[in-house]
Amino acid sequence: MQIVVHYHEIALKGNNRNLFVKRLIANLRKTFQDMGKIAVRSLYGRIIFSLDTEDLEEIKKRMSGVFGVANYALVREVAQDFEQMCEAAWQCFQEAQGETFAVRCRRPDKNFPMHSGEIEREIGGYILDKCAQTGRKIKVNLKEPDITIRLEIVAKLVLVSGERLKGPGGLPAGTAGKVVGMLSSGFDSPVACWQLMKRGADVILCHFHSYPFTNKASLDNCTLISEVLTRFQYNTKLYLVSFAPVQEELLSMTPAELRMILYRRSMVRIASKVAAREKAEAIVTGESLGQVASQTLTNMRTIDEAASLPMLRPLVGTDKEDIIKRSTQIGTYELSARPYEDCCSLMLAKHPCIKARLQDVLNLERQMELEQLESEAVDKAEIIQLTWRGDHVERVQLQAPTFSDNLTYGCPLEKI
Ligand code: ATP
Ligand code: MG
Repeated sequence: MQIVVHYHEIALKGNNRNLFVKRLIANLRKTFQDMGKIAVRSLYGRIIFSLDTEDLEEIKKRMSGVFGVANYALVREVAQDFEQMCEAAWQCFQEAQGETFAVRCRRPDKNFPMHSGEIEREIGGYILDKCAQTGRKIKVNLKEPDITIRLEIVAKLVLVSGERLKGPGGLPAGTAGKVVGMLSSGFDSPVACWQLMKRGADVILCHFHSYPFTNKASLDNCTLISEVLTRFQYNTKLYLVSFAPVQEELLSMTPAELRMILYRRSMVRIASKVAAREKAEAIVTGESLGQVASQTLTNMRTIDEAASLPMLRPLVGTDKEDIIKRSTQIGTYELSARPYEDCCSLMLAKHPCIKARLQDVLNLERQMELEQLESEAVDKAEIIQLTWRGDHVERVQLQAPTFSDNLTYGCPLEKI
């Protein structure tokens, strides 16, 4: 099966274009790595690849995750020979359903003797004649045709295609630098990380858990969510950070209504350390304005002050309903819906502060030994490398976790 891929935005990226196209080609190879032999070429701003399979449904499923693809179509490749072009156009036409049609031609290879308009008219006429012979009712409609037959005249060849399928858009994975994505087991952060992947960023995932204060459900969920997300960027580094020692310190020294903000600030400082290690340039969260108490503008600002890098919140203006829809589409919904114990819900006030003043927070932080605990959290994190292998995701543990013994809550539960 032969497929032609068109890209939009990457065509606009000037000198970077070659790099982007190379990456897109590499990503296509990775996407179909387990589906037999694949041959890929780049021709006049298009990518053409052939696969040793006829499984169109599987191809569609996989193409929906290849960022940078604007649209694609099954394509017939013929010589620059008018008869062969007519025959291929007729075959494509027969595979399509509809009552109106148009023929469109592009001619990046200007050596072909006929002009685009001429080719469109001649091939259109050929199809009309064939329809008359076979009794198929059809009309030409150049404005809004049901069926469009496309001919692209490229280096000594003609590519003929029918229905164009929409790709996911975006930019090819791995073309926009690195970010650290703060991944909880909830609905929002996987979607936020996915959005950055869609813009070409390599997202290093970082999950904070409170084991042994909580069970390991969030760890398992986040690893599975990370595997789902790996489909979109092929390689993922996942940090599973033990947040319990930091939390123990925070619990003993801070009032319940400010804890959420203090937890978040600490997470952001740790994520900044991970970013420094990984040479990442920003931190991504799944926050959405006003969704919960910690996500007011004032609180976001107080949280941002703890970051040493820009904080990206791609969902800041997105409603929950749309986030949920997206999570269903990308395949993280079922995992996010699983029950888990959230490390952030440990020992929080019923009504957390919605306007945490920076000065109050800084005063509290000054009384604690957070810096060392936060550095240790990175050093002791479990690090897992996930690699997309087509039909499965391979897990390799790069660093084993070190869990701290002797952890106790700093204050008795009944006091809260
Ligand atoms: P989510 O659905 O992503 O959990 P949420 O609506 O539950 O978001 P919060 O729990 O307030 O909102 O978290 C806000 C953001 O902080 C999350 O989207 C995520 O980016 C980050 N975050 C929260 N908890 C964790 C965690 N345990 N590990 C890593 N990041 C976290
Ligand atoms: Mg959450």
